[in-house]
Amino acid sequence: MTRYRITSATDAVPGIRIFRLEPLGRPISFKPGQFAFLHILDEKGGTVVKRPYSIASAPGALYLEFCIKLVGGEMTKRLEDLAKGAVMGVEGGFGHFSYGDQPKAGFVGGGTGIAPLMAMLRHIADRKLDGAFVLFYSARTKDSIVYREELEELQRRNPAIKVVITLTREENPGDWKGECGRLDAGMMAKHVRDARNFDWWVCGQLEMVEGIRECLTKLGADQKRIRAEGWG
Ligand SMILES: Cc1cc2nc3c(=O)[nH]c(=O)nc-3n(C[C@H](O)[C@H](O)[C@H](O)COP(=O)(O)OP(=O)(O)OC[C@H]3O[C@@H](n4cnc5c(N)ncnc54)[C@H](O)[C@@H]3O)c2cc1C
Repeated sequence: MTRYRITSATDAVPGIRIFRLEPLGRPISFKPGQFAFLHILDEKGGTVVKRPYSIASAPGALYLEFCIKLVGGEMTKRLEDLAKGAVMGVEGGFGHFSYGDQPKAGFVGGGTGIAPLMAMLRHIADRKLDGAFVLFYSARTKDSIVYREELEELQRRNPAIKVVITLTREENPGDWKGECGRLDAGMMAKHVRDARNFDWWVCGQLEMVEGIRECLTKLGADQKRIRAEGWG
């Protein structure tokens, strides 16, 4: 476990906080999409509580970033009280949900499920990878889109990246030019003609992950090329 110091804790959208941490020892190593255990430490450096969180920053960044929904549970009620300067323990990276520079890659996320997908997209933009990359991101309303500006910026930085955002509960779309409604096979087919040629990464609530797996199967995606991670 490496000790990290919080350098910023910012409310990205209501209920979701983005933490950035800098290493106080040897930084952990990880692949884009992997998760780390965050440890709340007591005065002696012992673990009070730990939980897994997807790393949202790309491996080359000087900091680790996490995008966390504050749900008032054992871990998140403690995280809510941590400010800049606080020290935590970090262990990782772990998990098979990782991106290995596949040239045709589709990413599908809902809510904080965007976190590991951000690490992958940031990595693609940083490395200037060639290929075709599409992100389907489902948010409830315009105000709950995390990373909205950065996603626009990523598309500008790497034109091979296409971002499709759909709003599932927006009552006042106004000048919204993106999609509205639940992500389904029809909506996905509009933006990706050859889903069967893509590798897929799906992250979000368990129910959503299973729904998307069915959509992708309908579109002819290869089961073996669909990686999924669900929580909440
Ligand atoms: C591989 C992996 C990666 C994860 N990455 C992230 C991440 O990037 N960001 C993130 O926010 N979480 C992530 N999680 C979930 C995280 O590990 C915790 O489960 C979550 O933060 C709740 O922990 P807690 O101790 O505060 O709640 P607990 O005390 O464990 O639970 C309290 C209550 O909150 C409910 N609850 C838990 N999660 C949610 C939720 N998301 N929405 C609504 N209610 C909830 C529980 O059902 C329970 O009733 C990830 C989980 C896994 C397995």
